[in-house]
Amino acid sequence: MKFYVLTLFPEMVIQGLHTSIIGRAAEKGILSIEALNIRDYSTDKHKHVDDYPYGGGAGMVMQPGPIYDAYEAVCQKSESGKRPRVVYLTPQGKVFNQEMAKEFAREDELVFLCGHYEGVDERVLEMIATDYVSMGDYVLTGGELPAMVMIDCISRLIPGVLNNEESAEFESFHDNLLEYPQYTRPEVFLDKRVPDVLLSGHHANIDRWRREQSLKRTWERRPDLLESAVLDKRDKIYLETLRRSCKDAESDF
Ligand code: SAM
Repeated sequence: MKFYVLTLFPEMVIQGLHTSIIGRAAEKGILSIEALNIRDYSTDKHKHVDDYPYGGGAGMVMQPGPIYDAYEAVCQKSESGKRPRVVYLTPQGKVFNQEMAKEFAREDELVFLCGHYEGVDERVLEMIATDYVSMGDYVLTGGELPAMVMIDCISRLIPGVLNNEESAEFESFHDNLLEYPQYTRPEVFLDKRVPDVLLSGHHANIDRWRREQSLKRTWERRPDLLESAVLDKRDKIYLETLRRSCKDAESDF
């Protein structure tokens, strides 16, 4: 997988991503991350990349030319000969989630366009952007952090990036459920014990306990996820018990 990031702050992206698991995957050649400085594609003698908005208003807008040329430079590098998908990071996009990450992980190459100031001239977006993705319903100063979040998340799904111990298979959002609580040594911490079942060595009981914790946690914290969760009969009975016990507690009040 090749990630290209069109940005005004390439060092931020490169330094942020070339550490830990993603850095190790890049060293092994499983993926590569290249940050292209949009400013390098400015034809202005002062290397300007932004200008005042037509029609007036606050702030500056990133000009289309340098962004377009930076993307053309990526296309020249592309080994597949295809024009890679371009993700424009914007608060106006679809909010990023694990399903989208899975879909992006099928690509061989991806380009991320990071905006700044008031954003990017609409014409270049119409020409090159294929996906509009948001990190959430809030406004950041630039697209670099969202691009880094997306690259981190997509990379974990690329075969070989995680080793067995770091498997992504049963994590939160697998089956649309949140992950069960995790514990490690010591067995007792400030009088709080690890749940007995985890020390029992009884794998079927551990699996059931984890499944129920997962259901309970999702029901408490993200009930919206349960609507599309993959549930069997036992799961549904367990959730019904939870709902009833909650109703009983409310009526006792
Ligand atoms: N004026 C723009 C608007 O109202 O939609 C916001 C511009 S914002 C200050 C500058 C840049 O930060 C955007 O072009 C985008 O690339 C990035 N950005 C800000 N918030 C974001 C979010 N929630 N998700 C993804 N990118 C974001």
